[in-house]
Amino acid sequence: MAYDDQNIFAKILRGELPAIKIYEDDQVLAFMDIMPQADGHALVIPKVPAVSLLDLAPDAAAYTIQIVQKVAQAIETALDAKGIVLMQLSGSAAGQTVPHVHFHLIPSSIHQLGKHAIQMGDQEKIKAQAEKIRAALNA
Ligand code: 5GP
Repeated sequence: MAYDDQNIFAKILRGELPAIKIYEDDQVLAFMDIMPQADGHALVIPKVPAVSLLDLAPDAAAYTIQIVQKVAQAIETALDAKGIVLMQLSGSAAGQTVPHVHFHLIPSSIHQLGKHAIQMGDQEKIKAQAEKIRAALNA
Protein backbone atom coordinates (compact mmCIF):
# COMPACT_ATOMS: atom_id res chain seq x y z
CA MET A 1 0.00 0.00 0.00
CA ALA A 2 1.32 3.45 -0.93
CA TYR A 3 2.13 5.76 1.97
CA ASP A 4 -0.30 8.68 2.34
CA ASP A 5 1.64 11.63 3.72
CA GLN A 6 -1.63 13.30 4.74
CA ASN A 7 -2.31 10.71 7.46
CA ILE A 8 -2.74 12.01 11.02
CA PHE A 9 0.59 10.75 12.33
CA ALA A 10 2.49 12.23 9.37
CA LYS A 11 0.88 15.57 10.26
CA ILE A 12 1.87 15.14 13.91
CA LEU A 13 5.45 14.35 12.82
CA ARG A 14 5.54 17.53 10.71
CA GLY A 15 4.12 19.57 13.60
CA GLU A 16 0.91 20.33 11.68
CA LEU A 17 -1.25 18.69 14.36
CA PRO A 18 -0.67 18.74 18.12
CA ALA A 19 0.19 15.70 20.23
CA ILE A 20 0.97 15.08 23.88
CA LYS A 21 4.55 13.94 23.34
CA ILE A 22 6.47 11.80 25.80
CA TYR A 23 9.67 10.96 23.88
CA GLU A 24 11.37 12.13 20.71
CA ASP A 25 14.68 11.58 18.99
CA ASP A 26 15.80 11.77 15.37
CA GLN A 27 14.20 8.43 14.47
CA VAL A 28 11.22 7.88 16.76
CA LEU A 29 8.33 9.79 18.37
CA ALA A 30 6.19 8.59 21.27
CA PHE A 31 2.98 10.32 22.30
CA MET A 32 -0.26 9.67 24.12
CA ASP A 33 -3.23 8.10 22.34
CA ILE A 34 -6.08 10.57 22.05
CA MET A 35 -8.73 7.82 22.45
CA PRO A 36 -7.10 5.61 25.07
CA GLN A 37 -8.14 2.00 25.63
CA ALA A 38 -6.85 2.35 29.20
CA ASP A 39 -5.21 5.07 31.28
CA GLY A 40 -1.65 5.64 30.06
CA HIS A 41 -2.21 4.36 26.49
CA ALA A 42 0.79 5.53 24.47
CA LEU A 43 1.92 5.17 20.86
CA VAL A 44 5.45 4.79 19.53
CA ILE A 45 6.12 5.55 15.86
CA PRO A 46 9.19 5.50 13.66
CA LYS A 47 9.67 8.72 11.71
CA VAL A 48 10.27 6.96 8.41
CA PRO A 49 7.19 6.74 6.19
CA ALA A 50 5.87 3.17 6.39
CA VAL A 51 2.24 2.11 6.47
CA SER A 52 2.58 -1.00 8.59
CA LEU A 53 5.10 -3.27 10.25
CA LEU A 54 5.17 -5.30 7.07
CA ASP A 55 6.82 -2.54 5.07
CA LEU A 56 9.00 -1.02 7.80
CA ALA A 57 12.73 -1.45 7.11
CA PRO A 58 14.31 -3.98 9.53
CA ASP A 59 16.76 -1.41 10.93
CA ALA A 60 13.96 1.04 11.68
CA ALA A 61 11.89 -1.77 13.22
CA ALA A 62 14.81 -2.84 15.40
CA TYR A 63 15.45 0.68 16.65
CA THR A 64 11.77 1.42 17.22
CA ILE A 65 11.29 -1.68 19.35
CA GLN A 66 14.16 -0.53 21.58
CA ILE A 67 12.26 2.69 22.21
CA VAL A 68 9.04 0.73 22.70
CA GLN A 69 10.81 -1.14 25.51
CA LYS A 70 12.17 2.09 27.01
CA VAL A 71 8.74 3.74 27.00
CA ALA A 72 7.14 0.56 28.41
CA GLN A 73 9.61 0.63 31.30
CA ALA A 74 8.79 4.29 31.94
CA ILE A 75 5.05 3.55 31.88
CA GLU A 76 5.55 0.74 34.38
CA THR A 77 7.46 3.05 36.71
CA ALA A 78 5.35 6.16 36.24
CA LEU A 79 1.92 4.60 36.45
CA ASP A 80 2.76 1.57 38.59
CA ALA A 81 1.48 -0.62 35.75
CA LYS A 82 1.07 -4.25 36.71
CA GLY A 83 0.98 -5.30 33.07
CA ILE A 84 1.35 -3.69 29.66
CA VAL A 85 -0.30 -4.80 26.43
CA LEU A 86 1.90 -4.22 23.35
CA MET A 87 -0.37 -4.06 20.29
CA GLN A 88 0.49 -3.50 16.65
CA LEU A 89 -2.18 -3.56 13.95
CA SER A 90 -1.00 -4.03 10.37
CA GLY A 91 -3.69 -3.44 7.76
CA SER A 92 -7.26 -2.21 7.92
CA ALA A 93 -8.36 -5.85 7.98
CA ALA A 94 -6.64 -6.07 11.38
CA GLY A 95 -8.37 -2.88 12.53
CA GLN A 96 -5.58 -0.40 11.72
CA THR A 97 -7.11 3.05 11.42
CA VAL A 98 -4.06 5.30 10.94
CA PRO A 99 -1.84 4.28 7.99
CA HIS A 100 1.53 5.08 9.58
CA VAL A 101 3.09 2.16 11.45
CA HIS A 102 2.79 2.43 15.24
CA PHE A 103 3.09 0.37 18.38
CA HIS A 104 0.45 0.70 21.09
CA LEU A 105 1.56 0.43 24.72
CA ILE A 106 -1.50 -0.04 26.89
CA PRO A 107 -1.05 -0.47 30.64
CA SER A 108 -3.91 -2.87 31.18
CA SER A 109 -4.92 -6.48 30.68
CA ILE A 110 -5.96 -8.00 27.35
CA HIS A 111 -9.16 -8.94 29.18
CA GLN A 112 -9.93 -5.36 30.21
CA LEU A 113 -9.09 -3.22 27.19
CA GLY A 114 -11.55 -0.49 26.26
CA LYS A 115 -12.88 -0.27 22.71
CA HIS A 116 -10.39 0.64 19.99
CA ALA A 117 -10.24 4.27 18.81
CA ILE A 118 -13.83 5.03 19.82
CA GLN A 119 -13.96 7.57 22.62
CA MET A 120 -11.91 10.69 23.24
CA GLY A 121 -10.07 10.59 26.55
CA ASP A 122 -9.96 13.37 29.14
CA GLN A 123 -7.12 15.48 27.77
CA GLU A 124 -6.15 16.95 31.15
CA LYS A 125 -5.93 13.47 32.65
CA ILE A 126 -3.86 12.29 29.68
CA LYS A 127 -1.52 15.29 30.06
CA ALA A 128 -0.98 14.40 33.72
CA GLN A 129 -0.13 10.79 32.81
CA ALA A 130 2.25 12.02 30.10
CA GLU A 131 4.01 14.26 32.61
CA LYS A 132 4.68 11.27 34.87
CA ILE A 133 5.91 9.11 31.96
CA ARG A 134 8.23 11.89 30.75
CA ALA A 135 9.63 12.24 34.27
CA ALA A 136 10.33 8.49 34.43
CA LEU A 137 12.01 8.61 31.01
CA ASN A 138 14.25 11.47 32.13
CA ALA A 139 15.09 9.98 35.54
P1 5GP B 1 -4.65 1.90 14.84
O1 5GP B 1 -6.13 1.67 14.72
O2 5GP B 1 -4.15 2.48 13.54
O3 5GP B 1 -3.87 0.70 15.29
O4 5GP B 1 -4.45 2.95 15.99
C1 5GP B 1 -4.52 4.32 15.78
C2 5GP B 1 -4.59 4.96 17.15
O5 5GP B 1 -4.41 6.34 16.99
C3 5GP B 1 -5.92 4.74 17.86
O6 5GP B 1 -5.69 4.13 19.11
C4 5GP B 1 -6.49 6.14 17.99
O7 5GP B 1 -7.15 6.33 19.21
C5 5GP B 1 -5.27 7.01 17.86
N1 5GP B 1 -5.50 8.31 17.26
C6 5GP B 1 -6.32 8.60 16.21
N2 5GP B 1 -6.22 9.90 15.91
C7 5GP B 1 -5.34 10.45 16.78
C8 5GP B 1 -4.83 11.77 16.95
O8 5GP B 1 -5.16 12.73 16.25
N3 5GP B 1 -3.91 11.93 17.95
C9 5GP B 1 -3.52 10.91 18.75
N4 5GP B 1 -2.62 11.20 19.70
N5 5GP B 1 -3.97 9.65 18.61
C10 5GP B 1 -4.88 9.44 17.64
